[in-house]
Amino acid sequence: KADVKNREEGFWRLSKLGVPLSKDPGKDFIGVSQPLLEAIAKVLEFPVASMLPQEAFSVVRKSFDARKLLKEPEFVYTVDMDVKKLLELEPRTWDFIDRLEYKVGLVEYMPSEKSSLDLISIIHDCKNSREGKQDMHNSYKSPHPERPKVAVVGSGPSGLFACLVLVELGAEVTLIERGQPVEQRGRDIGALVARRILQLDSNFCFGEGGAGTWSDGKLVTRIGRNSDSVQAVMKTLVHFGAPQDILIDGKPHLGTDRLIPLLRNFRNHLKELGVNLKFSTRMDDLIVENKNVLGVKVSNVRQDPGSGNYNLLYDAVVLAVGHSARDVYQMLLQYDVDLIPKDFAVGLRIEHPQELINSIQYSAMATEVREGRGKVPVADYKVVKYVGEGNAEASPDSGDPIRSCYSFCMCPGGQVVLTSTNPSEVCINGMSFSRRASRWANAALVVTVSSDDFDAFKCHGPLSGVEFQREFERRAALMGGGNFVVPAQTVTDFLDNKLSVTSLPPSSYRLGVKAAKLHELFPSPITQALQHSISMFDKELPGFISRDALLHGVETRTSAPLKISRHSDTYESTSLNGLYPTGEGAGYAGGIVSAAVDGMYCGFAIAKKLNLFQGNI
Ligand code: FAD
Repeated sequence: KADVKNREEGFWRLSKLGVPLSKDPGKDFIGVSQPLLEAIAKVLEFPVASMLPQEAFSVVRKSFDARKLLKEPEFVYTVDMDVKKLLELEPRTWDFIDRLEYKVGLVEYMPSEKSSLDLISIIHDCKNSREGKQDMHNSYKSPHPERPKVAVVGSGPSGLFACLVLVELGAEVTLIERGQPVEQRGRDIGALVARRILQLDSNFCFGEGGAGTWSDGKLVTRIGRNSDSVQAVMKTLVHFGAPQDILIDGKPHLGTDRLIPLLRNFRNHLKELGVNLKFSTRMDDLIVENKNVLGVKVSNVRQDPGSGNYNLLYDAVVLAVGHSARDVYQMLLQYDVDLIPKDFAVGLRIEHPQELINSIQYSAMATEVREGRGKVPVADYKVVKYVGEGNAEASPDSGDPIRSCYSFCMCPGGQVVLTSTNPSEVCINGMSFSRRASRWANAALVVTVSSDDFDAFKCHGPLSGVEFQREFERRAALMGGGNFVVPAQTVTDFLDNKLSVTSLPPSSYRLGVKAAKLHELFPSPITQALQHSISMFDKELPGFISRDALLHGVETRTSAPLKISRHSDTYESTSLNGLYPTGEGAGYAGGIVSAAVDGMYCGFAIAKKLNLFQGNI
């Protein structure tokens, strides 16, 4: 109690506050409703909920819980209580605060000040502390007569956030992107989907915003949802137009339709700050002298090959090219850059009718989903199993190592899309729009693979994982019969090792599917692990194995197949000075948010090296 008295300045975090679905204003409401105040009053043991001032509480997290053991599905809240404000507005709560007890995971004291900063504010704080107060948009007063020049190669989340930090802190930044701005990229993707024209540098992987632009835009991350860095990224996304609810939603997502204007705002901000934006410009090579990177060789991809090639010199080069830039990996080999193969996962993408997933997850409540317009969110799922030797749930293939089999990048109300960057290869992924209103639910079902698997396919050396991916992407293209048609098999036939002979259930994939023996696409340990885990997933999600569930091949680019070695403190390559590998392609991130965080830290590390910034972030 004595402690509490000393802590009246701080915040209490109240978790697991349940509000029944029928009383909650719905998934899009992010404020403090009366039913939520009632749940808070119960925890505080305060008798009159309506006397609690809403202003003293802020919602930190809101998730939907439809577990079958609950009488009624509910929204579960985490709320921060500002004790000072509460006591000011309603002094009669003091006795109740005084009696409040810690309960780990339920009632906890948050002694530190809550951070309300977005990344742009953080950067300005850094600048202010070094230069004395200055306005947000005042031009940068460099301590150097000349501003250091930095190239950021790649405009995915990692490149954009590195770029933002560097330009805000005073570097002269050029953003080099092989693909197109979102407007033209949208037209190129339209031509791919409607007329099977694959632009090699402007597609689902390449172009403004990177691989995640035409995506579901899930913003979930495994790197600590409440960490300052993740919050800084999320707040920056809100700054550029993302809805506020991503800050509190337990499973935040944007959808392609929201990502496109957000990226346009991001671009305009960078432009205003003087970033030199070079779209349709591919980095083909580095300029290296005595292990120092001096710049890049680029070409304009919309001009004839050979014309429009030129060299650009920089003090630092950020390599934020993603994991589909296999030409860049190849190029790095000639400079003996340390590329270390790493484990990743391969598999197939499963698609069910969304209605089926809604009913598996919500039973009778499924009708409340109403194509994303209702209170109940469109249902998703996440499943994971371990199969293999020594595991209680061992797969029939007893000699196989333990493998993790899991669902990945689930897109409720979405569609399956082509993420190939080469016409002789087929690989797929999923995307959706913000309402997640399509008839289908898709997710990758993948199995971990390691260097033993690469060796077995005679894929050796630093690019062994890339060769392994390519092998199955080529097989999938052959099985589909060309023209980006995707090989497919019902999940029941996949489990029975037989070709689907009756007509396939409909698919959201727009370029066509063809019945194929997907059970023969991967080596048998991978196929068996997939088959075994699917049977186990069905126990968790009864109905998952269904004649209406269609498997599509092939999902290979779940994460980078290698790591580009770098120093952990400076982010500089261990092989070449002045080169800064970052984001997913370098093997340091997986997903939009973690790539953005990595790019942000990389930006600060370079700024430190270039004497633009002295602090610690
Ligand atoms: P990327 O986003 O891959 O960006 C790399 C950029 O570099 C690209 O724009 C590329 O054009 C450019 N580039 C490459 N080579 C060169 C070169 N030589 N010269 C110039 N430019 C070059 N993640 C999530 O968290 N949530 C999701 O819902 C989600 N859905 C996805 C859906 C799809 C269809 C795909 C493909 C991916 C999805 N991901 C999702 C993964 C996510 O997109 C990536 O993890 C993230 O974009 C990685 O960011 P990055 O900046 O490291 O690289």
